[in-house]
Amino acid sequence: MADVKIDIKESPFVESPVVPEQFDESHVIKFNCYKGIECFNACCRNIDITLTPYDILRLKKRLGLTSGEFLKQYTYPFEFNKNSIAGVKMEPVEGGTECQFMTDEGCSVYEDRPTACRYYPVGLLSTRRADENFERMSYAMVQEDHCKGHFEEREITIRDYRKEQGLEDYDEHGSGWRQLILKMKSAGPAIGALSRSSLQFFFMACYDLDRFREFAKSEGFSATFDIDDATRQELYTDDLALLKFGERMILQIMFGEETIKKQADAYDALVARRREQKELREELGDDES
Ligand code: SF4
Ligand code: SF4
Repeated sequence: MADVKIDIKESPFVESPVVPEQFDESHVIKFNCYKGIECFNACCRNIDITLTPYDILRLKKRLGLTSGEFLKQYTYPFEFNKNSIAGVKMEPVEGGTECQFMTDEGCSVYEDRPTACRYYPVGLLSTRRADENFERMSYAMVQEDHCKGHFEEREITIRDYRKEQGLEDYDEHGSGWRQLILKMKSAGPAIGALSRSSLQFFFMACYDLDRFREFAKSEGFSATFDIDDATRQELYTDDLALLKFGERMILQIMFGEETIKKQADAYDALVARRREQKELREELGDDES
């Protein structure tokens, strides 16, 4: 790791109070957290939690909500580094700073708690060098006065801590999104040129999966993309498959990385559809052009 130049500012978790000493998975931490510890729930009383698309997928499923309902009730949007790349954070209780899922007994969504809650007090530093096309992961410790877990005697490697906290799935399914964010950030001024509709598409495909599914069922989608029936069914029924497909679509739309086959006559069909829509608007006397 010593020869790797890592920019912490590239981390999606940049707003965490991370002590910038970086470790790899074999680093041993001294930490324990359990019900009954004197600071129990303290970390959930003043939250600043960025959600990954996979976090949202797990939580909406657990709560029996659509992605739109979940986003409205439990989150608010923000921008990464003021460059228009949308992120989503957990909305605390009304008029307060506590997590809406905190109870006296602990976390009410524990089995589906977000990535950031699982990692705490370890910070994940997901980074990508400008000359590389893959993600590097390193870790840092978050030390906050309210957290007494650092004074416990238990020693554990970060590797085992990640396993204990069920982070392997979360990291695997969050990796595509983290790489997209890093790619968009490192694209710099080029991102500024991205259209509003591209950025709205990014938000829908990452965070509002049920709306994205409606789009995948639309005529416009079928007219544009040449998708086989098995894949189509998967997109209609499997949230995780839809999430991965959305990441590919974002790469295709924003970065020209073509992995999804287009209909041979997609361009002609688009022009024809636009013409029909324009004619319809004219007939209705509603032509803004
Ligand atoms: S989701 Fe659970 S663990 Fe995370 S802040 Fe809320 S109550 Fe705490
Ligand atoms: S030990 Fe730290 S992580 Fe555990 S409940 Fe206390 S403040 Fe939260």
